[in-house]
Amino acid sequence: MSTAPPLCLTVAGSDSGGGAGIQADLKTMLALGVHGMSVVTAVTAQNSLGVRGAWELPAEAVTAQYRAVVDDIGVRAVKTGMLSSAVIVETVAALLADTPAPAVVDPVGVSKHGDALLAASALDAVRKELLPRATVATPNLDEVAQLTGVQVESEDDMRRAAGAILGYGPRWALIKGGHLAAHRDEAVDLLTDGTEERWLRAPRHDNRHTHGTGCTLASAIAAGLARGLAVPQAVTAAKEYVTGAIAAGFPLGGGIGPVDHAW
Ligand code: PLP
Repeated sequence: MSTAPPLCLTVAGSDSGGGAGIQADLKTMLALGVHGMSVVTAVTAQNSLGVRGAWELPAEAVTAQYRAVVDDIGVRAVKTGMLSSAVIVETVAALLADTPAPAVVDPVGVSKHGDALLAASALDAVRKELLPRATVATPNLDEVAQLTGVQVESEDDMRRAAGAILGYGPRWALIKGGHLAAHRDEAVDLLTDGTEERWLRAPRHDNRHTHGTGCTLASAIAAGLARGLAVPQAVTAAKEYVTGAIAAGFPLGGGIGPVDHAW
């Protein structure tokens, strides 16, 4: 009998195609040596071409899953992803408030195919209820624009965006500049707590099979925190992991394939 690995919980949506959401999170956690557990918030019928449909679970089902895990097994770090609606955002924020473990909040808004994974009416709850509970918030540039109104076109704009996100109360903001047109050869992210500033640079891989990138990065950060790493070390290690996973992304179906967790 061996001892249990560090315990890590994802609160997110299911991707039937296995590329993003809960499925990406659990694969990442397995690859990084932590025990992955899941609270499903919504079920999507999804493949490499897009989301065909999404069904949100009742708030009481979300709470029951979360409590079942935390009351018995315990948790060392939590990651949140697709939360679908204001009711689920508020429910999850209340659960996080009750959990003395670091939380990585990926404020998932829209998929790469343009499918909405969060109702517009939930944005206020994300700003006021969820972000204040985050140890690290990991918005991409579209999510930054939705949440703060800051349109990012330069590294200076990324600084302004980080300041605006930190204004909602997370301890750290990781602004993912992967979509920034100014950086053709690099994927540049900014991690800051308002005092310390770290720029994370990785070569941009010419690979269109990137489905699940954001889920994978946030889960890898949570895995690092569950193992006891400090936020800057957890984020640096997670960026290396996701960069390798993107480089190894593979075709699947007729559209955008997933990153590879076993690279
Ligand atoms: N589906 C689910 C359930 C997700 O949680 C996410 C991202 O968080 C996506 C799809 C979108 O993934 P991507 O934008 O990487 O294609």
